Amino acid sequence: MSLGTPERPLRVAIVGAGPSGMYAADALFKSGLTVIVDAFDRLPTPYGLLRGGVAPDHQRMKSVGAYYDRVAGHEKFSFFGNVTIGQDVSLDELRQHYDAIILSYGAETDRSLGIEGEYLPGSYAATEFVGWYNGHPDYQGRTFDLSHKAAVIIGQGNVAVDVTRILAKTIHELSTSDITENALSTLEHSKIEDIYLIGRRGPVQAAFTQLEIEELGKLDDCDVVVNPDDLILNEASELELSQSAKAQKNYAVLKEFSERKLTGNPKRIHVVFFRTPMSIYGKDKAESITFGVNRLEGDAGSQKAVLTDERDVLSAGLIFRSVGYRGCPLPGAPFDDKKCIVPNDKGQVLTTDGTPVSGLFVTGWIKRGPSGVLGTNKGDSAETVATLLAQILTLTPCPTPDSTMLRKRLEKLSIVSFDDWKKIDDHEKQQGSLVGKPREKLRFVHDMLSVIRPNQEDT
Ligand SMILES: Cc1cc2nc3c(=O)[nH]c(=O)nc-3n(C[C@H](O)[C@H](O)[C@H](O)COP(=O)(O)OP(=O)(O)OC[C@H]3O[C@@H](n4cnc5c(N)ncnc54)[C@H](O)[C@@H]3O)c2cc1C
Repeated sequence: MSLGTPERPLRVAIVGAGPSGMYAADALFKSGLTVIVDAFDRLPTPYGLLRGGVAPDHQRMKSVGAYYDRVAGHEKFSFFGNVTIGQDVSLDELRQHYDAIILSYGAETDRSLGIEGEYLPGSYAATEFVGWYNGHPDYQGRTFDLSHKAAVIIGQGNVAVDVTRILAKTIHELSTSDITENALSTLEHSKIEDIYLIGRRGPVQAAFTQLEIEELGKLDDCDVVVNPDDLILNEASELELSQSAKAQKNYAVLKEFSERKLTGNPKRIHVVFFRTPMSIYGKDKAESITFGVNRLEGDAGSQKAVLTDERDVLSAGLIFRSVGYRGCPLPGAPFDDKKCIVPNDKGQVLTTDGTPVSGLFVTGWIKRGPSGVLGTNKGDSAETVATLLAQILTLTPCPTPDSTMLRKRLEKLSIVSFDDWKKIDDHEKQQGSLVGKPREKLRFVHDMLSVIRPNQEDT
């Protein structure tokens, strides 16, 4: 019997119900075949970084969730939340019940700097801070000491800009976002006055985008400072600038910032270029950070930051490294330790020696690495699904095309269905409406489970 027909639907398990997993489900449903999609997520809440990464004060971005809701509303879609693949269920067990598996479990850890003092208290990964203020259950045990006058953010991507903005905004500015009440009350007592957003290379090479950097210049109680000397370009950077619309937009914003005068606002954001972190110093906790001053060398488009003999020391008790997210291996799946992705050819998972793994596919950040915006995952997942569907005639049908047994076994683990998630969603929105916020997030899994099943002891 052919897979993908009403008599024998194609059965696909999705590992990670983040944006890339939801776009993969969408592409499968749009294929015209009969497909059953079961999406597993280790959290009781779907949509990955849309909830736990995208900044709480960027609510317009969060509206993409309505699109994912429509995908999840498909009659052949099921959500299995609070189930960790590789721990609660192995890939081998999934293979018993699904003809194909799509890995879309993202890149959840951070890259390190590899410098002395990096793990002193006071020096953290931006991943932790972002997860904490966004109510991700993994990070709710973290505490951040904001009693210092200066904070340093290492890296100049949009995540670094998010962290900078959250530290710089007033409580009033944040009060209509969906930042957790817990984070808000910590930020309310923040003593931070100077926030340094620091990059290794120059203004033309910065990874942030215009809208994000521009927003830093529009905050209520905060000045933004750019040293005009940092905007003097070498020949190669001039050429790069002339060839990149993105760099031109960023440069125009930075130039305007560099012409501003301090207005006496209580906070200042300093956008600083040409600095490589060398070491973090502190007796028991971070007290200062030493930077090497760089110059750029090389051809336009591939200029490298090269250390000069000059050093800079900044006193700072709060340091965030924001130099990229990093994927981790999933038990039973191949993994490329260097690139920190699942090796693949257009979404077909390959062993490390390049052999295709039958029935196993990959999409999103764990396929291509942690780059691109939400929409980038749409095309990426379409490519993976096309690769999968091109093999429909040769896929080995699973031995037990039914998930009843699996579901029964998982029920003991407080598995969360899509309807259960909607109860959490409704509860959060209702709690948020009481304080003028889009939602007040539940921060702990046990609280989420209590909302779903209020009378159960184990919750
Ligand atoms: C801080 C931050 C801010 C961002 N802001 C924006 C923005 O403003 N605009 C924009 O367009 N893009 C933004 N992005 C990028 C966007 O979030 C990503 O492109 C997108 O989330 C990647 O989707 P993904 O599905 O590959 O991974 P993820 O979103 O990480 O989803 C992976 C899912 O897999 C689940 N999972 C992990 N391991 C397992 C397992 N073993 N078993 C089951 N489930 C598992 C996770 O719980 C998660 O739900 C931001 C990213 C970050 C980090």
